Amino acid sequence: MEKTFVLATFNTHKAAEMLAILPKLPLKVRTLADFPGAVPAVEDGATLEENALKKALAAARFTGLPALADDTGLEVDALGGAPGVRSARYAGETASYAQNNALLLASLDKVPEGKRSARFACVVALALPSGLTVTARGTLEGAIAAAPRGANGFGYDPLFLVGEGPLTLAELSEEAKNALSHRARALSAILPRLLTML
Ligand code: IMP
Repeated sequence: MEKTFVLATFNTHKAAEMLAILPKLPLKVRTLADFPGAVPAVEDGATLEENALKKALAAARFTGLPALADDTGLEVDALGGAPGVRSARYAGETASYAQNNALLLASLDKVPEGKRSARFACVVALALPSGLTVTARGTLEGAIAAAPRGANGFGYDPLFLVGEGPLTLAELSEEAKNALSHRARALSAILPRLLTML
């Protein structure tokens, strides 16, 4: 019988990226949206690892299936690593992508080009219903642009200059983002464990 595992997310952008990044596996993949009654885990951990583990374990326990979760943070050096683990809630508990991006630009208002270095860090966690877990991390170095550019991707992508630039993540095609992103790097690091643990 084909094995099944769950992507522990309600974020359709993230689920689509994870599905596009993972190689074709002899596995049936579901998301939490396929499980009525599933609720998002509270992301109150102090680190990306804690939050990713919390999401994966909650999903594995709820569904009785192996679950894969990701938690991502944008670390801006001029802001002492903020918004970091609070990236989703930077401008408030229910902040939109636009509100978070506007606050990020305002926070860096006086910071000149050349001092706006940043990175995306992504931690993926795999949890089995037994409680067995494993995590892996991937990062992508870059800088924060002076204004948003590009229509692809999601979240902070329009403000994130990849490497030395000139393009933001939102100006890359889906394939180009998925070839180099923090999420792709974390997933490729966990893939061997995913294959042996399932
Ligand atoms: P979380 O991992 O769901 O907690 O997401 C943290 C925040 O970072 C959210 O505001 C996301 O929109 C944003 N985010 C997560 N992954 C990416 C990405 O690949 N590009 C841009 N923003 C992202």
